[in-house]
Amino acid sequence: MRIGALEAGGTKMVCAIGDENGNINERITFPTKTPDETMPEILAWFLGRGIEALGIGCFGPIDLDKKSPQYGHITSTPKLPWRDFDIVGYFKGLNIPIGFDTDVNASCLGEATWGGAKDVDSSIYITVGTGVGVGIMAENRLLHGFTHPEAGHILLSRAANDSYPGLCPYHREPHFCLEGMAAGPAILGRWGLNGAELKNRPEVWELEAYYLSQAIMAYILILSPKRIILGGGVMKQEQLFPLIREKTAALLNGYAALPALDSYIIPPALGDDQGIIGATQLALKAGA
Ligand code: ADP
Ligand code: ZN
Repeated sequence: MRIGALEAGGTKMVCAIGDENGNINERITFPTKTPDETMPEILAWFLGRGIEALGIGCFGPIDLDKKSPQYGHITSTPKLPWRDFDIVGYFKGLNIPIGFDTDVNASCLGEATWGGAKDVDSSIYITVGTGVGVGIMAENRLLHGFTHPEAGHILLSRAANDSYPGLCPYHREPHFCLEGMAAGPAILGRWGLNGAELKNRPEVWELEAYYLSQAIMAYILILSPKRIILGGGVMKQEQLFPLIREKTAALLNGYAALPALDSYIIPPALGDDQGIIGATQLALKAGA
């Protein structure tokens, strides 16, 4: 089967042709400009490639309510040219099933189907990059409610030795949210350098792990995931993993019996491809 996959991101659009086994056979990347500039390039690439279904993992917020007139639209994004853009509708002329979900839910699905969580039915995928997003697989279904989860914005306690106010425009002092305190731009804002340049500064990663662990504790207590996968640019700092495992266990303080931590809180198994591979699975699910 020839499956079209689109990972729609704020800086780039990855288009690919995959199959039903999680293989990606062909791909191309377009920069994200405006819909008028970018979407015709994407459609032209898919046209003529004989795709039988399309899956879209999209930056949010997006409308996932099939009963809503706005279903398939990007909604209140700060990327103004994309606000209220009907990205699913744009592909209607292809007359094929179209699967649609958030980029991080697509990543969660990719890892849950073919990656580091393929052996369990409940898992979460946390991306720590330009923002923080969480995709949730619960009993083999991606979790949705009135909209998709926005678990990057849960509130945290600020560390006693941190005076950084956070950069989330919605959650201001005295409240601090995970994304505002721990996404890549927050690291730059607090320390004056990008994460990649701070590798040898242990205090940076101690603090980063402290914030991620507070959030992970909440996710564990609410969702009881059987695996926790952390990806995105910031998690390229592999020294974070042992720190996060240790701090999460310390915060839980023996309250919940955790699975063996080294195989419970882990990096992605699909490298940087879980989003695009997950989009092929979104397409398959839409066609099923
Ligand atoms: P996006 O979230 O936009 O899809 P990424 O997941 O690559 O993209 O995240 C980008 C963020 O990750 C930037 O803030 C960048 O500084 C940070 N980042 C990228 N590579 C590294 C690295 N090796 N170490 C620490 N931070 C990194
Ligand atoms: Zn926030």
